Amino acid sequence: MMNIAVFGTGYVGTVTGTCFADLGNRVVCMDVDAAKIERLRRGDPIIYEPGLKDLLERNLQAGRLEFTTDERRAVEWGEVCFICVGTPPRHNGEADLSYVQAVARTIGKWMRGYKLVVNKSTVPVGTYDLVRRAVREAYEEANGPAAPPPDFDVISNPEFLREGAAVRDFQNPDRIVVGTDSERARAIMRKLYGPIARATRPIMFTTIPSAELIKYASNAMLATRISFMNELSHLCEAVGADIADVAKGMGLDTRIGPRFLQAGCGYGGSCFPKDVKALAQLLEQHGLTSTLLQAVDYINERQKRSIVQKLKRFIPVLEGKTIAIWGLAFKPRTDDVREAPAITVIEMLRREYAKVRAYDPEAVDNMRAIFGDKVYFAKDAYEALEGADALVILTEWDEFREPDFARMKELLRAPIVIDGRNIFNPDEVRALGFQYAGVGR
Ligand code: NAD
Repeated sequence: MMNIAVFGTGYVGTVTGTCFADLGNRVVCMDVDAAKIERLRRGDPIIYEPGLKDLLERNLQAGRLEFTTDERRAVEWGEVCFICVGTPPRHNGEADLSYVQAVARTIGKWMRGYKLVVNKSTVPVGTYDLVRRAVREAYEEANGPAAPPPDFDVISNPEFLREGAAVRDFQNPDRIVVGTDSERARAIMRKLYGPIARATRPIMFTTIPSAELIKYASNAMLATRISFMNELSHLCEAVGADIADVAKGMGLDTRIGPRFLQAGCGYGGSCFPKDVKALAQLLEQHGLTSTLLQAVDYINERQKRSIVQKLKRFIPVLEGKTIAIWGLAFKPRTDDVREAPAITVIEMLRREYAKVRAYDPEAVDNMRAIFGDKVYFAKDAYEALEGADALVILTEWDEFREPDFARMKELLRAPIVIDGRNIFNPDEVRALGFQYAGVGR
């Protein structure tokens, strides 16, 4: 049982803090956003994440979990201090480290005894140095240069959780990566992660640069697989092949494996787009070329746009038409719309003066915050279809997979379906009288 402080209560911080509390640790989570902290205190997880609400309530009631805006309290509490703040892209794609630096300074300002500073935010190689310096400088500013700072370690512990399965991923991680050169830090991390590490899911200790790079490399590899399949999807359409069959045939090769081979309307979210760009930037900063990663990013942008081009094959002039959209979140089982393909598609439709009626089981509020009343948000999937000239599917929520096709046909003004996630069988849908376009088939 340890005293832990978590800085930043977004997706990563809230899940990390709550799950560590559930393992019996005493956790104080700190955020600069007072409204967020107030809601978390009341047991409202803010984000939609399966299993999180129960876990949050249970650990708040058990008194193992506290939410605060008081940075001093958090630093004084945590022997282990997790940095879980955002690292959004700057205009050139490089990661903005100002939030990470701010937390490092907070820790330096208030630390009195040993601190293990664990960086969980996704950061470029070398951020470790920046954090170390920021902790030390802030300590000296607060205590004068004459007072040597207490011992502290800065280590890298990248987070691999997937939104939509974050709690399960925390409790059953494929791997736990810890970059450190400190024996003391290693012992603490072994103790902390001991309950969830297994022989087949070990804690992997590496150097700090390797740990920092493992995170970017993993996301960039997954994004590359998606862009690879998306590029092939256009060839499939040109030669009459089916990308789903191609993916299946490729995935049966044990060297390739079946996952992340789905063509669709492009990847989104707060990680893949930003991490691909940041890794490309990192290569460039070291005088290396990032040809592959630039292509991955380019293909993804093009893929999002290709959905509207597909729609225009059926409706060449979109002006005055109403388009229904099913799915706004960047993927199912989350309410996160950051960099979601739906944003690009809605913007393109609006630029062509089409009206949009959209539905998502969880992400409506987040999308409303972006588009306001420029988009009509329906209360269910069928209401979105009322009087629409076509349906575009952008997120593969389970509830869209087996709809009432007869009702859909009745509600739509024209039975046109653009399936950006290939959730329907093309032959079946066409046999039902729909004009259908999937991706790469
Ligand atoms: P987020 O934007 O959801 O949350 C960040 C939080 O940090 C916000 O609540 C913000 O108010 C808070 N914050 C900002 N400055 C602060 C400060 N000085 N002190 C305390 N709190 C502060 O971000 P996220 O999605 O949780 O991602 C965090 C990091 O983890 C990023 O680097 C991201 O790349 C990485 N990551 C994210 C995921 C994911 O699925 N979301 C997965 C793995 C890794």
